[in-house]
Amino acid sequence: MIPFRTGYGCDLHRFVPDRKLVLCGVEIPHTAGLLGHSDADAACHALTDALLGALALGDIGHFFPDDDPAYKDADSVELLKKVLQHKAFESWMIGNCDITIITQKPKLAPHINAMRESLSTILGIDISNVSVKAKTAEGLDAVGRCEALEARCIVLLAKRD
Ligand code: MG
Repeated sequence: MIPFRTGYGCDLHRFVPDRKLVLCGVEIPHTAGLLGHSDADAACHALTDALLGALALGDIGHFFPDDDPAYKDADSVELLKKVLQHKAFESWMIGNCDITIITQKPKLAPHINAMRESLSTILGIDISNVSVKAKTAEGLDAVGRCEALEARCIVLLAKRD
């Protein structure tokens, strides 16, 4: 059996006024936030789906249904932590993760290190193994029109000894 597994996750949420913008568990100052049943932290959701995908455990909607009142305005970091408590992580450890956030606004460069630190703490891995990148959509499509934000993530898991 190959002692590595990769996982991929992606997510997209719509921008609306009067919501906080939270990415990787970090509140980012902006004129709009993301709409969702939870806090709509798209980066955390993509990461959570990548972890679940690596272990073929399903997806975030299976674990935390978006029609369940228990998860209304839920802190996505707490959902991610719940997934990390899955018994599968007794056998698998996280090697690294690489997240790309695509948004026209706001500029995320000043917040990249805070987001990496946040995920490093949550995942329990060194910050050198946590990559968060940001780019625009060059003005194209819903993301480019500032109507939505997208996040994509891959992870590598390694079998524990
Ligand atoms: Mg989501």
